[in-house]
Amino acid sequence: MFKKNFSRRAFIKQSSLASIGSALSLGLVPSLFASINKAAQTPAILGGPAAWDTRKWPKWPVWNPETDEKRVLEVLRSGVWSRAAVVTEFEKEWAAALDAKRSLAVANGTNALIVALNQFNIRGGDEVLVPPYTFIATVQAVLANGAMPVFVDIDPQTFQMDPAKIEAKITPRTKAILPVHILGLPADMDRIMAIAKKHNLVVIEDACQAHLAEINGKKVGTIGHAGCFSFQNSKNLPIGEAGAIVSNDDAFMDRCFSYQNLGLPYGSVVGSVGTGSIREGTKVRLTEYQAAIGLAQLKRLDAQTTTRNQNAAYLKSQIENIPGIIPYKLYDNVTRGAFHLFAFRYKKEDFKGLSREDFLKALRAEGIPCASGYTTLNNQPFLKEVFQSKNYQKIYPKEMLDYNKYLEQNKCPENDRICNEEAVWFTQNLLLGTKSDMSAIAAAIEKTHKNADKIKKAAKI
Ligand SMILES: *Cc1c(COP(=O)(O)O)cnc(C)c1O
Repeated sequence: MFKKNFSRRAFIKQSSLASIGSALSLGLVPSLFASINKAAQTPAILGGPAAWDTRKWPKWPVWNPETDEKRVLEVLRSGVWSRAAVVTEFEKEWAAALDAKRSLAVANGTNALIVALNQFNIRGGDEVLVPPYTFIATVQAVLANGAMPVFVDIDPQTFQMDPAKIEAKITPRTKAILPVHILGLPADMDRIMAIAKKHNLVVIEDACQAHLAEINGKKVGTIGHAGCFSFQNSKNLPIGEAGAIVSNDDAFMDRCFSYQNLGLPYGSVVGSVGTGSIREGTKVRLTEYQAAIGLAQLKRLDAQTTTRNQNAAYLKSQIENIPGIIPYKLYDNVTRGAFHLFAFRYKKEDFKGLSREDFLKALRAEGIPCASGYTTLNNQPFLKEVFQSKNYQKIYPKEMLDYNKYLEQNKCPENDRICNEEAVWFTQNLLLGTKSDMSAIAAAIEKTHKNADKIKKAAKI
């Protein structure tokens, strides 16, 4: 643990820095520069000055009452709050932003995935290939349809599902691949689509973190048979809670619309009777005021995405030569990232054995918010619970529900290392800052690297 009295040392350092201004005028410059420099090089966690002021980071979500509230108020005052023209307008704009034929807005990204899987008829007894490095919603969407998630390990360099490991996981039950563009960085869709075609599998892209990311100029979410997006508050296009399905397949999109609206007829989905539900459905419709917020946010998404790309590239260039820091890698055909997160791998061997946890504490003390990211998903007890449920017991043969066997078959050692030891994240709002913000992050990491030994010793006390 770091000792309390470091804050006392911090106080002494800071007060000596404060007196430097007056000392400068007394002509004591050379020796003072040396001491300023030395103080600046002392890690904040050991009492030095912080590299940055945490309060300076851009706030999220961005909201400008003057430009953003007019439409929302109009909707509120109209009294038309359930799905109507504003939702349709948002869907049109979202489809246009992605160059997709159709878009359907729903209550959230989780339900976008649930509906999409369901309307490709992926249900009990089917297997869906998923990466283990994702938000839990990806896996829950598979389970919600009674299907079986099968984990394909990731490529640690890109953090994405590793296409080289997909074919070994395909069985006669496999119906779909659910690649996730995790961190807002595109998965290797060319290879995934080729494998899917060969084995006749449906591909549903989880693009919940990847708004406007591109492969060869084509937006992710429009490369597979369908793409799913989230507009939850932390996401790059924040509405609070909302989501969308996009696809060029009209019949599929009509089925999705009908399903999210209680199985009522829609488009090519017609019934023999004029009124009422004609098929199974649920109700996960978006509201008009949510769509009005979405329309406002959509206006700034493109410019924000450009800023995130520029800052991510700059930050990467500033830290990739620090030993023990290995930033994300993009596949060669990626033309734009969404950078929902900026991630790198931390190798403690190059930091004198300083644990990731203590490295994160040191960065936070420098004023840099950071996190270790996801925990492993492929070995969580909730899967055991699901396997014991009535539906799963009725649908699957016993050996498929043997939890220990499942764990064995779904091992993902690369993901284990990333989750348990190496990943470090900065959230996307940091990437909306300035170039000096990025330099401050790099300086904090550099400082921590130089002083890794001292920090480690202090952490042990
Ligand atoms: C956020 C997210 C989801 C779920 O979206 P919600 O809108 O929160 O339901 C699914 N997958 C990934 C990868 C996500 O990041």
